[in-house]
Amino acid sequence: MARIVVLGAALGGLQTALLVAQDGHEVTVLERDPRPPPLDAKPAWSRWPRPGIAQLRQTHLPLARWLQLAEAHLPDLVREMTEAGAVRMNVLAPEPAFRGPLMAGDERFDTLAARRSLLEAAATRTAENAGIRIGRGTVCRGLRSSPGPRTPYGGASGDRVPHVTGVETDAGGSKADLVVDCTGRRSQLPSWLRDIGVPCPVDESGRRGFTYYSQYFRSADGAIPTDRFPLVVEHGSLGLLRIPADHGTYSLCLISRSDDEQLRRALRNERAWSAAVRLFPGADRWLDGRPVTDGIQIMAGLTDRKRLLYDTQHPLVTGLMAVGDAWAITTPTVGRGLAMSLQHSLLLRDILRRTGTAHPVELVTGFAEATRNSLGRIYEQTTAYTRHRLSEMDAHTAGTPYRNPDWNRAKALALLAQRDTDALRAERAAAHLLPGAREVLAAPALANAVTRLVPEVERRMPPGPSRADLLKAIEA
Ligand SMILES: Cc1cc2nc3c(=O)[nH]c(=O)nc-3n(C[C@H](O)[C@H](O)[C@H](O)COP(=O)(O)OP(=O)(O)OC[C@H]3O[C@@H](n4cnc5c(N)ncnc54)[C@H](O)[C@@H]3O)c2cc1C
Repeated sequence: MARIVVLGAALGGLQTALLVAQDGHEVTVLERDPRPPPLDAKPAWSRWPRPGIAQLRQTHLPLARWLQLAEAHLPDLVREMTEAGAVRMNVLAPEPAFRGPLMAGDERFDTLAARRSLLEAAATRTAENAGIRIGRGTVCRGLRSSPGPRTPYGGASGDRVPHVTGVETDAGGSKADLVVDCTGRRSQLPSWLRDIGVPCPVDESGRRGFTYYSQYFRSADGAIPTDRFPLVVEHGSLGLLRIPADHGTYSLCLISRSDDEQLRRALRNERAWSAAVRLFPGADRWLDGRPVTDGIQIMAGLTDRKRLLYDTQHPLVTGLMAVGDAWAITTPTVGRGLAMSLQHSLLLRDILRRTGTAHPVELVTGFAEATRNSLGRIYEQTTAYTRHRLSEMDAHTAGTPYRNPDWNRAKALALLAQRDTDALRAERAAAHLLPGAREVLAAPALANAVTRLVPEVERRMPPGPSRADLLKAIEA
């Protein structure tokens, strides 16, 4: 069995640690933030300092695929989260277009709704119960390495690539047979690699992105507004998320382009923010709750970024893997981060089962291939979403419709989903990365129905106020 050091004790790192520990590996998790989460949901939300997770107090909802995978492979984690107050919710049921009742099989649309701090606290408890060591307040500063095994692709160092043998930390260091980087979107991996002579992995990154302006509320009666509501509305140059969470809390989040200067200036102001929320049909009642965040939580530059270290059959380095956000971040509106990260941890577990750490080249190339085959396509789809949605927002700002055949088809499917519950199931299954969704979408009857709706979406602007009305409301 291998000695594995996992960097980062947030959800991605803890899930990875739990999975490999189940197989008997000796796992240590190193985490830069010193404070463990309080047990209780309330102080975990309001008093837990967690600078290492910049998005801790931002709107979060895992996809249904995340819950499926977690129930199958990490049932203790799901139990801890549920006992802590995470709410099992079905993502079909609140949709205004849904014509109930839920049917057998619709439980695949279930997910767990909770604030991110609750999910983190429950994951920490699960890891501690499983006997996983978490070294808190331990900042990884770099990698230890030795000349690696012979490969046909060694580059400048002949036929060898560096092999990572551990990490350097504030507290000295740790040896490892395998280092797993789960330090998230701000991972320092490129500079750590440069320091051990590895040519810098290429980051393929979107130049433009979105900004989240979110607030959590607690309703007076402990329930979320019960009217049907779409979880996501894309409304011209602005989007709105309405996401239920634990203990009667829920979040409202406005999404704009990060380079939309007019909205950027206005939406940090709470009154302007509320005015913008009110422009969304049915959103008024969601403003009745008591805010439980300290003002509007803003996070900008949300886009896609993939690290090309693993997009090659030829490893740049062995003994090291980047999992979850440390490998790829995706635009959060599509909510894929947690599901992709858990799927990635499972790929790591499976390749370790097959190859072990005694064959480091096979291990990293096998992981690279599995990553590309199962997550590469999802990543590409997400970058297409980001590109089209930003262009649509640009067009709306300019007062014109955005015309693109692929985007029009996506919009036509969304329109069909508002009129037909089976189409809604198909569309939501794809959005939630559920197995078999692609085949259902490709079925001729559905594909033809989508094609028939394309001319209708081409003729209309996305529903919602004109740009002028939006600016008037927030300026007033
Ligand atoms: C605004 C926003 C909204 C999102 N909404 C959703 C959503 O609705 N659904 C969804 O599925 N996903 C969402 N995501 C994505 C999701 O947050 C990430 O995919 C998820 O956090 C990935 O977890 P992670 O553990 O890989 O990284 P992180 O959560 O970023 O954790 C990294 C960990 O590494 C630690 N660390 C960092 N550097 C070091 C170091 N040098 N040494 C030791 N430890 C270190 C940090 O302290 C932290 O604990 C959202 C992301 C953002 C930004």
